Amino acid sequence: MLSPWLQIWLEAGREGQVFTYANPLDLPVGIGDLVQVRLQGRLHSGLVVDGLRQPPEELRGRRLLPVEAILQSAAVDGTWQSLITAVAGHCHTSVFKTLKSALPPGWLGQRRASRTGAPRPIWVVEPVRPVGGDERLTERLTERQRALLSHLESAAAPVPLRELCGRAGFSRSVVQALEGRGLLRRRAARPGGEGGCSGEPLEAPQPLTPAQAQAIQALETAGPGQSFLLWGVTGAGKTEVYLQAAARHLAAGRSSLLLTPEIGLIPQLLDRCRRRFGAAVVEYHSGLSEGERVAAWRRCLEGEPLVAVGTRSAVFLPLGQPGLIVLDEEHDTSYKQESPMPCYHAREVARLRAEQTGAVLLLGSATPALETWLACHTTGPRQTTLLRLRERIGGRPLPPVRLVDMRQELAAGHRRLLSRPLMTRLQGLQERGEQAVVLVPRRGYRTFLSCRSCGEAVLCPHCDVALTVHRSGSQEWLRCHWCDHRAEMQTRCGHCGSTAFKPFGAGTQRVMEQLGEELEGLRVLRFDRDTTRGRDGHRRLLERFAAGDADVLVGTQMLAKGMDLPRVTLAAVLAADGLLHRPDLRASEQCLQLLLQLAGRAGRGERPGEVLVQTYSPDHPVIRHLVDGRYDRFLASELELRRHGGLVPFSRACLLRFSGPQASRTATAAAAVAELLRPAVEAAGWWLIGPAPAPVARVAGRSRWQLLLHGPAEPDPSQSPCLPLPPETILRQTLPSGVGLAIDPDPI
Ligand code: ADP
Ligand code: ZN
Ligand code: ZN
Repeated sequence: MLSPWLQIWLEAGREGQVFTYANPLDLPVGIGDLVQVRLQGRLHSGLVVDGLRQPPEELRGRRLLPVEAILQSAAVDGTWQSLITAVAGHCHTSVFKTLKSALPPGWLGQRRASRTGAPRPIWVVEPVRPVGGDERLTERLTERQRALLSHLESAAAPVPLRELCGRAGFSRSVVQALEGRGLLRRRAARPGGEGGCSGEPLEAPQPLTPAQAQAIQALETAGPGQSFLLWGVTGAGKTEVYLQAAARHLAAGRSSLLLTPEIGLIPQLLDRCRRRFGAAVVEYHSGLSEGERVAAWRRCLEGEPLVAVGTRSAVFLPLGQPGLIVLDEEHDTSYKQESPMPCYHAREVARLRAEQTGAVLLLGSATPALETWLACHTTGPRQTTLLRLRERIGGRPLPPVRLVDMRQELAAGHRRLLSRPLMTRLQGLQERGEQAVVLVPRRGYRTFLSCRSCGEAVLCPHCDVALTVHRSGSQEWLRCHWCDHRAEMQTRCGHCGSTAFKPFGAGTQRVMEQLGEELEGLRVLRFDRDTTRGRDGHRRLLERFAAGDADVLVGTQMLAKGMDLPRVTLAAVLAADGLLHRPDLRASEQCLQLLLQLAGRAGRGERPGEVLVQTYSPDHPVIRHLVDGRYDRFLASELELRRHGGLVPFSRACLLRFSGPQASRTATAAAAVAELLRPAVEAAGWWLIGPAPAPVARVAGRSRWQLLLHGPAEPDPSQSPCLPLPPETILRQTLPSGVGLAIDPDPI
């Protein structure tokens, strides 16, 4: 039934508001459609939330504007809408903000006139025969280039570029090189034809190990909405379980959602999925353009069973019949959205979706989060079934962890960044055809500069943090890792006028330099946010390393995550201490997770691996648990500490973050909100802590304050939290202009 008047949700100011429009007779507009309308002369896209038989009282007799176009019919259905409502409630924010955050970027809100929504062309690649069979052109090709050409030659039709660089595993640089030589050509695919899947046979699943078979069996017989933790060291075959479980759902006509915390892990997972499921795979992450994200969303709406691979925001993909939701590396904090609101955790959203749709939730990790592990040992609404893969595939042992006590290195007069044991191990690497990964907690050249006379560090003018020294060749400059401010190298101290500075702390660039100086001939690549920019940055760098372009990969935290590099036999941590001593409730847990993940990089191939940890605190409990390799023992002791201290997850926290251009105004606003909340908070048996300046009290010129609410753990966490807080909009009204607020109901 078509209603003559429509209630449409539009963006107005920072929030959403419902406006009434006329339903034109020539457009079949329905609830859940995404439509284009005009608001104050501007084009907007909005969501139809209701149909009316009569216009609202106050609008009677007025001519209402009509809907101009349907951008997507049935963009949102009832189940999905109730997911959004539940997430909004849990995150203490509005449904509109949650919708805007969940839908593809740019879909809801004011529209730029140029955005047509037309799909981007699909590029295909075809070989070009050298003119007159000129053999010289093909003589000097690399092996990879030859392989690519013969791949194209043997294909029945032009091969889509996406597939060539995805499933077929060629890098873009190989394509570009051949294109440059005129040996291949790319063009837009003809609409309707080509561009799909290249009829290549799909890869067969591996025969399961007994432990994997047991896990699959448990998943097959799971009840609707049941959750599982698949706990297995890296290389134990977890991904194979995800793939085979997804295959079963696909065969039964149901979709699967495979989430990974980092965009850097997408290529590997995507390639494995494409080899297994071909064209049934759809990807969704921030590396895609807005148009591509919309296209992926639309494909899900079409309702065919799919395997969707993506990062955090993909948890909202509107898959028709989800049978399985997987969170790989479920402990990873990248699953938590910090800003903007809603501050949701993809694990919690996935749990809600599983409950709503009857899908099975599968959390995978080598180092499960404390909360997840606890859920395996308690009964209640979050009860999770534990599945274990105790051994690596092929029975390969986990690499032993060796400590290098840097105090002893100092005592022996060795004051270098690279300890002697590390040097010894790196020396033979190249000869043996092996590789190493080296973790350095910070990127850049030097962590900070301080004045030799007065000891003050050189700070960012916009943030309360020290500037990092970066270097390229002999050029040095300063950069802020928080706001990206760049400045020339300082020549005079802003405090005392002295011209002498002392650099402290080594970043990835400095470690590269030291390795080059001390070990001649060693080839080193750097893997951090500076070297992996762009859409294929991660993939390109890893491909070069895997192809043997370097012996050592030096990188930040992102190095530790999920990569499968069979020639790596050594994983080293240069300054473990920088990771150990952080003033954070989860510091120990996160540090051990990171170190164990890094350890998992070594010895994945034929040759055994080894882990080397340089530290000044070899007796630190985290280091002891790392050497001992018993993560479950760590969890048990950590759980007791938290229980004893009444900390999360034995209590609940909620953080209110305030930010504003002036410190005094921001602080006053935070204090006013604290006083406003105090009676209700205390009546509910909660505590109010603060307001206090945030750990980094100024970022990008905005001062930051916070207010912490602390309360008893919820009896039923699947329910909306019983936070003693008024709605966000009410709180916002009490704030002076310019002061922002974010509510994080489960801060990490
Ligand atoms: P994880 O996800 O736990 O790190 P993977 O699923 O990636 O483990 O498995 C590690 C390696 O072992 C991969 O190369 C994978 O192809 C291989 N593998 C996994 N399961 C099997 C199996 N049942 N038989 C043979 N090889 C397997
Ligand atoms: Zn000074
Ligand atoms: Zn800054």
